[in-house]
Amino acid sequence: MHDLIIIGGGPAGLTAAIYAVRYGLDTLVLEKNVIPGQISTADKVENYPGFSSISGMELMQNFKDHAEHAGVKIQVTGVKTVKDEGDRKVVVTDDGEFEALAIIVATGANPRRLGVPGEDKLLTKGVSYCATCDGPFYGGLEVIVVGGGESAVTDALILSDIASKVYVVHRRDELRACSLLQKRAFDKENISFIWDTVVQEIKGDELVEQVVLKNTKTDEITEMNIDGIFIYVGIDPNTSMVDVEKTDVGFIVTDEKMESSVSGIFAAGDCRRTSMWQVVTAVSDGAVAAISAHEYILAARSVN
Ligand code: NAP
Repeated sequence: MHDLIIIGGGPAGLTAAIYAVRYGLDTLVLEKNVIPGQISTADKVENYPGFSSISGMELMQNFKDHAEHAGVKIQVTGVKTVKDEGDRKVVVTDDGEFEALAIIVATGANPRRLGVPGEDKLLTKGVSYCATCDGPFYGGLEVIVVGGGESAVTDALILSDIASKVYVVHRRDELRACSLLQKRAFDKENISFIWDTVVQEIKGDELVEQVVLKNTKTDEITEMNIDGIFIYVGIDPNTSMVDVEKTDVGFIVTDEKMESSVSGIFAAGDCRRTSMWQVVTAVSDGAVAAISAHEYILAARSVN
């Protein structure tokens, strides 16, 4: 039996692991992807202190190198469920069962689907959630970006250097993204904004050809020819494997020590209910969760 199993090898999980091994805990990280972390798809990260500008992939590789240097063991496998058996937690994976005294869930979140007709059918055929991954296919073409948050504006800027024209379709008339990103986007000649508008349908046979738009103020419906649609309407947490208290959309509820409603199960990073989903807050959560898990494990050992 391990002292601690950390589910997820993104910034939160690897930070927790680095802290845990330094506390002498027998720690195993279970991660389903070889290159984990939503941040690894970010073209540039400019708000992680110590790095004025670094690619998400390079930052993630730095985390991994640091963790491996510290002696963290990482196993690539998919986690199906976590069973709480009191002072013993059992993690059921694609490669069998693993046991630990405590668990840290650091499973992150995935891009939220818009949920409109055509989105699933045309996924990878013009529908995307990642400009860094798919942007290069749109050289000289016209695309729309849906959303008004940091992700939408960041990726609209990436796309504006590749596509001939980028339309940002936002349901309100004001962006949610920080003012620095807003200014950069407003200054770009080939980015236009379509305010107070939602996408109702994505049309196309083999590839995306059109979107159906609805003005939320006038209810006017229009069809627009387009080559690609990039969707950024928030994130959904990957928390179905664990039975603890969650918000109505699935973020794990924790206390200030990152402990969930189940004793010995902690959560950190984007899968947790919090006010900010940033790399810097994920690593902070990871450190706190590791320290709290250490305290819990010491107490559990003294009882057993
Ligand atoms: P977000 O901040 O939740 O923004 C989602 C956007 O989508 C909002 O503008 C929202 O509109 C819109 N939206 C939501 N549901 C919609 C729907 N059904 N139809 C149309 N529009 C819809 O999500 P995010 O931009 O992915 O960011 C997630 C987190 O990651 C945030 O904490 C963000 O700060 C962080 N992030 C940070 C960076 C960075 O630091 N560089 C980069 C990317 C993301 P409303 O504004 O009307 O609610």
